[in-house]
Amino acid sequence: MSALPETTMSAGQDFNGFSIKAVTPLEALRSVAYQLEHKKSGARLLHLHNQDAENLFSVSFPTPPPDNTGVPHILEHAVLAGSDKYPVKEPFFEMVKMSMATFINAMTGSDCTYYPVASNVKQDLFNLAEVYFDAVFHPLLTEQTFRREGHHFAPLDPEDPTGDLTITGIVYNEMKGAFSDPESRFYRSISRALLPDTIYGKESGGDPDAIPDLTYEGLKGFHRTYYHPSNSYFFLYGNTPTPEYLAFLSDKLNAFNRLDVDTSIKSHLRWDQPRSIIDTYPIGADEPSTEKTYLAIEWLIGDATDPEDVALLYILSLILLGNEAAPLKKAIINSNLGADIIASGVGGIGRESTFSVGLKGSESDHIDDFVQLVTETLSQIAESEIEPERVEAAFQQSAYHYLEIQSMFPLHMMRRVISSWIYDRDPLIFLRMNEHLSNCKRRYESDPQLFNQLIRSRLLTNSHRLTAMLKPDSQMQSRIDTAFAERMKKTRRQFNDDQVKQIAAEAEELDRLNSQPNSPELLATLPQLKVSDLPGQLTHIQTEVEMIDGVELLQNSVFANGVNYLVLNFNLKGMPSELWPYLPRYTEAIRKMGAAGMDYEQIAQRSAASTGGISCRTDFGTCIGDASHSLWNVQFSLKALDDQMSSALEVLHDLLFSVDPRDKNRLRDVLLQAQARYRTDMVYDGSGTAMSHAARGLTVEGYLSEMVYGLPQLSLVEGFNNDFEKCSEDVIRQIGSIRDFLLVRGRLTASFTGSKSAATTVQNTLKDWISDMSNEPINDASIDFKPFGDPPREGLAAPIQVAHCAQVIPAPHYSHPDKTPLTVGAHLVRLEYIMNEIRFRGNAYGAMFNYSPLGSTLSLGSYRDPHISRTLDVFSGVADYIREVEWTQTDIDRAIIATAKQFERPIRPEAATGQALYRHLIGQTPELREQYYAQLRRVTPQEVKRALLELLETNFAKGAICVVSSRERLEAANQEMPTQQLIIEEILG
Ligand SMILES: [Zn+2]
Repeated sequence: MSALPETTMSAGQDFNGFSIKAVTPLEALRSVAYQLEHKKSGARLLHLHNQDAENLFSVSFPTPPPDNTGVPHILEHAVLAGSDKYPVKEPFFEMVKMSMATFINAMTGSDCTYYPVASNVKQDLFNLAEVYFDAVFHPLLTEQTFRREGHHFAPLDPEDPTGDLTITGIVYNEMKGAFSDPESRFYRSISRALLPDTIYGKESGGDPDAIPDLTYEGLKGFHRTYYHPSNSYFFLYGNTPTPEYLAFLSDKLNAFNRLDVDTSIKSHLRWDQPRSIIDTYPIGADEPSTEKTYLAIEWLIGDATDPEDVALLYILSLILLGNEAAPLKKAIINSNLGADIIASGVGGIGRESTFSVGLKGSESDHIDDFVQLVTETLSQIAESEIEPERVEAAFQQSAYHYLEIQSMFPLHMMRRVISSWIYDRDPLIFLRMNEHLSNCKRRYESDPQLFNQLIRSRLLTNSHRLTAMLKPDSQMQSRIDTAFAERMKKTRRQFNDDQVKQIAAEAEELDRLNSQPNSPELLATLPQLKVSDLPGQLTHIQTEVEMIDGVELLQNSVFANGVNYLVLNFNLKGMPSELWPYLPRYTEAIRKMGAAGMDYEQIAQRSAASTGGISCRTDFGTCIGDASHSLWNVQFSLKALDDQMSSALEVLHDLLFSVDPRDKNRLRDVLLQAQARYRTDMVYDGSGTAMSHAARGLTVEGYLSEMVYGLPQLSLVEGFNNDFEKCSEDVIRQIGSIRDFLLVRGRLTASFTGSKSAATTVQNTLKDWISDMSNEPINDASIDFKPFGDPPREGLAAPIQVAHCAQVIPAPHYSHPDKTPLTVGAHLVRLEYIMNEIRFRGNAYGAMFNYSPLGSTLSLGSYRDPHISRTLDVFSGVADYIREVEWTQTDIDRAIIATAKQFERPIRPEAATGQALYRHLIGQTPELREQYYAQLRRVTPQEVKRALLELLETNFAKGAICVVSSRERLEAANQEMPTQQLIIEEILG
């Protein structure tokens, strides 16, 4: 982005059927905002015009949910399944297959549904806009689509068409997954209970118990009412001139007359008494229920369409909870009432602002103590002086939050505009956050009691407060299963054998339709790019490499809007094997412990006052030229404003050179937090757990990833906590050993993006640091990696109502010439076979077929899946599918275009800093990127087929399988696969 673009139209003019309501320059965003209305249809349009090449087209509709059937969510899925002009099955997935979209999706919120697409290629964006416009305004909405996306009956056993029935459907399974995750379940029930008498008291995503009540007529009626131009909000972003959009939309919108659509959302009446709710969630039948209760307090505190109020409350939330030393956060952690804070701070439900404090890993009899602790702590804070440094730090943090050019920047802009616009407020108010922040600052300066007063008025004396508890229940799963089985038996009795045969026949017909690919003639109706339309040359990050006493410093020239970004990479090569399992404890110590003689509170305060955040993570990969050339790294990332670069670097220095884990009380809290996080992540991100577990015996990187991020960490940390006195010394010692191990010159590479003055500060500082590091040579140390003999078939049991299946097989490395046809082929197989079989026919929410050239693996997976053995059969059928399919060059070209987008991501400063470093480390020069890009554009169907078959025929049998699901489902799957049993093990003891 450079300067403000010239304005081409002015307010009061008419243009192509639109009247121009306002033209507003927005200096801080280097943009001009055009607000228009389409005269005949009443459609509203806002274009944020600037020099950014990433253009976004979106249309959004307020969609107040009438009940808990999830009609807005099911409609969001269903409109993307074929339209008048594009009567193909799933044009959405066809466009994913063949476009360069940097973003393509649809989202259902609590009161609004969004359809955004973005691309760096102008013709591509207009193609996507064509398909999206027709999808939302002229969808086919067939009954089959409703049944597949929403819900339908099917025989429980397809071999027994007059036997018991079951319910399936994509949204139905998606929401079953969402409801069996306790955290997601908890937030949903809190939001509904806080605003019971408004539309926010309804579940817009759909409650699995209520989804089957939605009728096909109900779905169509909801579309007729709300998906009309008079209820539409078009938000556009980027460098395409506004008149081009108006020309594109004018004729299309002229087909509609204005309609009165009432989507006004009333504010909630405030309660005069606090309320409370108790809910339960299923855990394993034999699982102990201790330390598994969730507690929360949530207040309704303000108007989410008032930007100054939103900014003030955000700053208040940072003061109270924004870092490890923030007083409310600290009081809750120190109380030991639970393991860790969850989802706390200011938030929003539609047009209402909320504030919440949540605790996980607690007990139900702690609820009164928790409420008392929170209110007493808030009173104490309100009654004493809030240190000005603390407030100042919170202002700083909010500046990063609102001003940074993040990735998916156009989408963030859409969110901000919509969040006031659909409530009839000025759509530009959330684009002027710098002005609102200055106003907040002025208010604070003239009234230093401002935040004390807010704590009193918005929290302490506010009776619109909900206390919520979510308790574990070891019998709940069996109750759910029994109730569902009874419901299905009752349903079955309502039908005679002929009717139920009819249901089975319809389910089979739906399956047959879902299994048929689109004909080439139909696909040709979709607007699409040609390979020759792709940019001839790639955009590269402009990077210069400078040497500072033998250490490389990359300087990237990317516009960063006053924020500076630094990444330090330390190579872990040669780290002694006993230290590896402690790596997560080291990175955690950087984020949560003290350093250099200061306790964790002092460090956290310094970090909040002078940086936009310091993070630390590990990464295991390989170089592009050689699979055996491993790259195992620890990376520190820092961001800071210009005038704070020196003090930010001082904090980083203290952590890097002198992180100190010896505060045992703090260490104990940190380890309990880690355990609570692992317990939920490992189960509810079950697909990640399954993938990592299956990959652990294939490559050394897979082995290390599993050790550092996977299941072994859960039992390790549980062990530390069970015998803290004995283990803590060991944890402290190993963290110290990793710290000392890293401080070697030859391990370090740095990457910087930002201003000239900050660059100089970085150069000088690094020089000092390097002189304090040892100069010893880097040695290899062997990793104790034992590859799988016979690849295992494993089941990990956990209390969830769906399955996550994974199969990971060894695949050629990046350095192998087949990486290009395999990359294109994996994209095709995922969208044409795996997605079709697992999502559209199997009704799982997600399906994967990912080739990782740098990880040397091919991963097949399903996500929130109602099936296990069927899905594993689909995996086994992939080679047969490839043998039979006849891809044309047109099919391959579409996949080339979609694959090419990974080369043309927009360059945003933070991501670019890491990206430039990553490319440098793996040896991917601009020349090699161009070479790969050129190879990609020449791929042929023959090559793709040969490469995929060669890989599958040689390696498929070497693939390991892992499924995360409930024990009942895993055992049932084993009954269906008597010769290929899964070995079942519990995830949680
Ligand atoms: Zn969905």
